[in-house]
Amino acid sequence: MEKVSLKANSPSLLEEKVLDWDSVQKSFDQSFGTEIYSSWLKHISLIKEYNDHVILGVKTRFFRDWITSRYADKILSELKKHKLSINRIEFKIEPESLNRNSKSILNDSVLGKISDIKNSVLNYNRLNPNLNFNNFIVGKSNNLSFLSAKKICNQLSRYNPLFIYGGVGLGKTHLLNSIGLELSQKNKVMFISAERFMYQFIKSIKKNEMVNFKDFFRKANVFIIDDIQFIRGKEGLQEEFFHTFNTLFDQSSQIVISSDRPPNKLDRVQDRIKSRLSGGLVVDIGAPDYDLKLNILRKKISDYQNSFKESPDLQEDVINYMAKNSNSNIRELIGIFNRVVAFGKMSKKALTVNDCKIILKDIYNTNKVISIDKIQNVTSNFFSISLNDMLSPRRSRPLARPRQMAMYLAKKLTSRSLPEIGRKFANRDHTTVIHAVKTIEKLIENNDEMKKNIEELKSLILSD
Ligand code: ADP
Ligand code: MG
Repeated sequence: MEKVSLKANSPSLLEEKVLDWDSVQKSFDQSFGTEIYSSWLKHISLIKEYNDHVILGVKTRFFRDWITSRYADKILSELKKHKLSINRIEFKIEPESLNRNSKSILNDSVLGKISDIKNSVLNYNRLNPNLNFNNFIVGKSNNLSFLSAKKICNQLSRYNPLFIYGGVGLGKTHLLNSIGLELSQKNKVMFISAERFMYQFIKSIKKNEMVNFKDFFRKANVFIIDDIQFIRGKEGLQEEFFHTFNTLFDQSSQIVISSDRPPNKLDRVQDRIKSRLSGGLVVDIGAPDYDLKLNILRKKISDYQNSFKESPDLQEDVINYMAKNSNSNIRELIGIFNRVVAFGKMSKKALTVNDCKIILKDIYNTNKVISIDKIQNVTSNFFSISLNDMLSPRRSRPLARPRQMAMYLAKKLTSRSLPEIGRKFANRDHTTVIHAVKTIEKLIENNDEMKKNIEELKSLILSD
């Protein structure tokens, strides 16, 4: 009976994991940064969740086009971190969902309440107190940028503009924010991302408030603009930026700019802007070396100890492993650290390098497909039984256990659905797979031998 009803409802029953949209939103905020998050992603709602895809709601066509052209890939990979089986996103325009998640930023009634641009800009001009010079760890790759940032704080407009460039997640925003914090006590600091600058710009045009817009930005005596590469190909915006820049420069305001590439590589940017951008001090921030990554991890550990009054319980070899095997992206390194610590907390044990490997694989290879064939081959080899025997209907334990372990691994390491896994195991029913997964989960908890074997199998399957 039970089996029949399971099948009748199978599509929904098999969606065993339901996305927690709040925590998805939180991870958007973390991985896209607050600027992009609050401008765009915050306003996405979850309309419907299927096993392998989701339908997301956006309010306008403009929103949808903007988000899909810029953020769709990254949104997908974020979603995969929450639910591995998702491999497609659809956007639906749902004007009536305006208030489903939060207030719309393009909603006229909301816009109407903002009496002048000043208030709305101020909301996005907040400096993050956690990104300061004191907790910026200096190494070979960022030393020059760090010193330059410090220098301009002591000698305003001596180097104008200061232009810091480098790849993603290397600390540009952190440095810019630190400059803002350092100077904000004695100066009128304006800190904005180029994307937000554009947003305000468009909004001011729509609301006929260009005079306020110009006024507002030109009042700053420290003007910090993040991710200037965003203006590429946007003529109107470049025009406005050029005039803002000139006004600020002429009144000796300090200008600080970050970019993902040097000024001369900013294609589709007017030459006159490029020449302004490179007219001061241009410094690059490079990929961190092993020592810097290690120092950042040590700092994270001590931060953790200070805030939670307990140690994150990471063994030396695990720390070294993270520093050695993480990408050259500090944001990602910190993400890995958080994840490893969270994992350790959940599993209530000190993690091994092997656990770490699995967590890292998960982050780097969300798109790498591990096949069930591979799992079956590795498992049958591991137990020195033939693949045929492992898949056969025979129920003797020396065959049945490895079979169940392979099913368990297929569920954990691939995004295949239970019925798909069943089919790959000589056409077994998905309930057999559920049973196998549960059996092995229980054994892992109570049986050290099982735990060790599964660990070893995982690392064999995931290596190479
Ligand atoms: P970018 O703007 O270059 O993409 P961010 O400034 O946002 O990079 O840095 C990504 C993350 O890494 C942030 O959490 C930041 O605090 C952290 N980070 C980057 N560089 C350092 C550093 N040298 N010391 C400490 N934290 C850093
Ligand atoms: Mg940044």
